[in-house]
Amino acid sequence: MARDHGEGIGRSNGCRRCGRKRGMIRRHGLRLCRQCFRDIAPEIGFKKYS
Ligand SMILES: [Zn+2]
Repeated sequence: MARDHGEGIGRSNGCRRCGRKRGMIRRHGLRLCRQCFRDIAPEIGFKKYS
């Protein structure tokens, strides 16, 4: 059995945090909705997003 890469992130398009597809941000390889992005941006090293 070959395991697929991606552990727990194998969902379709959508925020990897909450799973929503609304207001997705694909910048910088992120898969987060705007809400989650603003929430964890500081944690992942991003500054405030206007
Ligand atoms: Zn989200």
